[in-house]
This record gives sequence, C-alpha cells and structure tokens, in this order.
Amino acid sequence: MKLTVIGATGSMSGPESPASSYLIQARGRDRASGQERTFSLVCDIGPGAFGALWRHVCPRDLDALALSHCHADHMGDIISLQVYRKWGPGSSCPPLSLLGPAQTLSRVRQIEGAAEPERYECEFAFTQLRLDHAYEVGPLTVRPYRALHPVEAFGLRIEGPSEEDPSRTVALFYTGDTDLCESIIEGARGVDLLLSEVGFTSDETEPDMHMDGRRAGEVARRAGVKRMLATHIQPWTPRERVAAEIRQTWDGPLGFAAAGLQVSL
Ligand SMILES: [Zn+2]
Ligand SMILES: [Zn+2]
Repeated sequence: MKLTVIGATGSMSGPESPASSYLIQARGRDRASGQERTFSLVCDIGPGAFGALWRHVCPRDLDALALSHCHADHMGDIISLQVYRKWGPGSSCPPLSLLGPAQTLSRVRQIEGAAEPERYECEFAFTQLRLDHAYEVGPLTVRPYRALHPVEAFGLRIEGPSEEDPSRTVALFYTGDTDLCESIIEGARGVDLLLSEVGFTSDETEPDMHMDGRRAGEVARRAGVKRMLATHIQPWTPRERVAAEIRQTWDGPLGFAAAGLQVSL
C-alpha cells in the first residue's frame, strides 16, 4: 500500500499545496480480468486537487473516491472530476465508486448549480458511508469511524497489502477533520501510519472542530500508532509551532504531509 499526498493544506488551497486529498494505491487481482493491477483510491478532493492528482494517476484509472465529510475544502474539486467523467475522456468509463456522507450528492449539486433530480448516475455510483460497515476497493478495505466535527464526518481506516511483503496487511488511519474523541482513537488503534489533521494551534479553542498539536499527539499516543504524519495545517501556521505542540504528547516518529510526498507502507 502506498500513500501519495495530493494536497495537505488545511481549510483551503495554499501557495504550496492543494487542499486535502490523498491517493492510496495497492496491487491486487482484478476480479473481471483475473490480472494483477494497481488499484487507486482517493480520499477527499479539495480545491486544486484534481489537477494535482492527474500528475500521479490518470483520472480514468481511479477505482473509488471516499469523502471524509462534505466541507468544501475536502470535496470542492469533485466538480472537476464530474466534468471529466461526464464530458471528457472519462465519459466512456463506468460510474466511479463514490463513498461519502448522506448529503454528498446534494453537495455536488450545490457546487455545480444543478437541480434536485440530478443524481450523477453516469459519473458516480454513490454509496453512503455507514459506521460498522467495511467497503472494499480491490485489495483495500475502508472502514469509517465517527469524527467530531460540525457536519457528519468520518475518520477512515484503510487496510491493504504491504508493499514490501504483500502477504502482510498494513493499516493507515486518516482522521479527516475532527476534534479529539474516543471513536477516532479507536479507528487509529495500532496503525502503521496515522495521517492526522492539526487544523488548530492551541490559541484556537473552538470546540468540536479541529485538533491542535497536543490533541493530535494524544491520538497518536493513546492509539499506539507506529508513525504520525501531520496534515491539514493552515497555510499561515509555522510547522515548528505545530511540531512543538505535538511533541508535548507524542514522542514517536513524526513527519509532515506535503504535496507530492509518497509513503510506502
Ligand atoms: Zn478541513
Ligand atoms: Zn471540515
């Protein structure tokens, strides 16, 4: 399983990165052809992410898009993917599996300016994410966990074959947007890589919205993760500040998500 960071900037696109988007790929057997191939799952597609994603994978070759929640900074560029698959080279592709919260299609309609009957059936095959359910994307399994955020939101636990030894299963947990809560710690339990939002610094105290570095570090420590990658940092927040806060609660391996960064698991 390989992670490629497409966009990592918090709450918006920034000078160095699109907003939130992560490409997760793994080798597996295609049921239809019986052949081995690379499966591609995209988690979130914030502003600016579609073009950046295209540098890493042809948008025709995606297998699924999973949305952690329907805030614009995590799904705004779905409209570029929709146009590509309705009118562009993707128009001959079968509908793309789209996993997301209940309001996903209405949010796509709002962005496009389309009316209620539009269900995007040529472009997307929508499945509503439900707790305690697992969703398969080739060799990858996606499990949603309840996040603590002002709208319906999920952290996503993704398991798949190790790059080094495909007989071994590795796990990644993407928090999406969330404040610290028990269900997020549960989802992150023991993962090889925690991709954790750090949307706030300790100066920001709005409850049930984002984590500051201390709370994100607490998730890593209490969940017993092997490694942490901090993401969703506002473009004006210095990394050193975030690192200093995380280090108050987490002393394990720490990195920062950046556009183009690849992590082999
Ligand atoms: Zn966000
Ligand atoms: Zn959000």
